[in-house]
Amino acid sequence: FLAVAGLRKSYGTGVVTPVLRGTDLELERHRIGVILGPSGSGKSTLMNIVGGIDRADGGTVEVDGERLSDFTDDQLLEYRRTRVGFVFQFYNLVPNLTAGENVEVVSNISEKPLQTDDVLAAVGLADKKDRFPCELSGGEQQRVAIARAIVKSPRLLLCDEPTGALDVETSLGVLALLQRVNAEFGTTILMITHNSAIADMTHSVFRMRDGQVEDVTHHDQPVPAERIQW
Ligand code: ATP
Ligand code: MG
Repeated sequence: FLAVAGLRKSYGTGVVTPVLRGTDLELERHRIGVILGPSGSGKSTLMNIVGGIDRADGGTVEVDGERLSDFTDDQLLEYRRTRVGFVFQFYNLVPNLTAGENVEVVSNISEKPLQTDDVLAAVGLADKKDRFPCELSGGEQQRVAIARAIVKSPRLLLCDEPTGALDVETSLGVLALLQRVNAEFGTTILMITHNSAIADMTHSVFRMRDGQVEDVTHHDQPVPAERIQW
């Protein structure tokens, strides 16, 4: 479903150290994959290219049979808007919009596969639709961010340290929610984390070092978040 091959990326001009040095990664449809690796190893850079936020210098990214490097800028924008969802560490909610309005912001695209009320119910926030972000806990804000990311029914959900700002218990709740999104909506999920305890909850574990995936482990049966020893 997701196939990254020989991806290369450097920033800046002149003498530069490459951030991605021939990165390979494959993730099957309906699976959850996690990228682990030291700070600066290129995890976010890889994810941003897979999400169409950034472009590679070389190599290929295929998502659901489409080759991102062949896309025009307009096609890449359409891909970002309709086919991929993002969740970041710091939620990035619009502060002066309610939870429901934050979800509406992106769901206001022509075809709207899911309803705002349905996704807010799915993330357990049906009763908090009219609250502003400052009236929600961190975990609740991240649930709104997840609702916003899945309302367009993306084929691929990308999460860059989705629990990075949350305490253990809240993190486990968010991870359980991501597992449920994967199981119920069939969304393929790729996430980045610094916490290797999360690895057991996923189907595929990619360990990155110096701009390359140096090790891959697969699990047939991910451990439910509720049973993870943190
Ligand atoms: P962390 O775990 O700290 O988030 P990471 O593995 O996600 O790290 P990246 O964000 O991919 O690492 O960054 C890899 C390297 O690329 C770093 O040295 C970073 O400074 C550099 N880098 C990332 N984005 C840019 C950019 N837009 N311009 C210049 N350099 C960048
Ligand atoms: Mg990062």
